[in-house]
Amino acid sequence: MRLALFNKGRLGIVDGDDLVDVTEQLTGTSTPSAAGALHQHIETVARDGAVQIDLTGCARVPLDEAALEAPLPRPGKVVGAPVNYLDHKAEMEYTTSVADLGVFLKANSSVIGPGQDIVLPYTDKRTDQEGELGVVIGRTASNVDATDALDHVFGYTCVLDITVRSGEDRSTRKSFDTFTPIGPWIVTADEIPDPGSLDLRCDVGGATRQRTNTADLIFGVAELIAYTSSVMTLHPGDVIATGTPAGVGPLSHGDRVVLEIDRVGRLEVGVDGSRATPYEQRPGRRDR
Ligand code: MN
Repeated sequence: MRLALFNKGRLGIVDGDDLVDVTEQLTGTSTPSAAGALHQHIETVARDGAVQIDLTGCARVPLDEAALEAPLPRPGKVVGAPVNYLDHKAEMEYTTSVADLGVFLKANSSVIGPGQDIVLPYTDKRTDQEGELGVVIGRTASNVDATDALDHVFGYTCVLDITVRSGEDRSTRKSFDTFTPIGPWIVTADEIPDPGSLDLRCDVGGATRQRTNTADLIFGVAELIAYTSSVMTLHPGDVIATGTPAGVGPLSHGDRVVLEIDRVGRLEVGVDGSRATPYEQRPGRRDR
């Protein structure tokens, strides 16, 4: 099942070329919280188990007429995996990987959805795309074993982990507003029994920059959940960006970024460099 948010917070199930509006049916409300109707649905499933869905009688909207939004506009946490593909480790000349670095957090306020724009902060510092498989947590996970980890997954989505190449901490460089495009929907885990065999491709400006298969992850999805849950409790609706392969590169004003993951979907966003300012003009004194 593919679940999407559309038309200012409505919750839909993709059915062929249509979106079927199941907002009231799945959330029992027409006014979802800031975390969104899909987040509420994930919490309901975590608490009460799977929900029976009857699509008869629900309103339908043609998919190409619906304004899709980030399926999770404000996740509780966005966890990132640094250096989780060997080819990206090599291109960046890193000597360590996720196994040494652990995980990092991105601000949940950095999330945007399909069709929106990544806003470049600086005129003179690279801002790069990183195309990644996103994991959406479905059940509270604390100290879970890798063998049980996939039972805690609600589904999968495409995530762009946008990153400024400057000297700050990762949580700063990756947390600018608009730096976490997510979508176009969440595919439930039953449709992807093995997240370790998915082709991933990321194009920028019509040229393919990144191409991999999730089989090449250093920490696969189960291992990444097990490790992360040994540090922090993962809650329903939390998102893990699993890491990026080789081929990261700078974004420019007007670029289109397209991330396509086998059996998950295709996420496309734009790039807006019109508000970028020189790095030296950022706030804060630098004389001490
Ligand atoms: Mn990344």
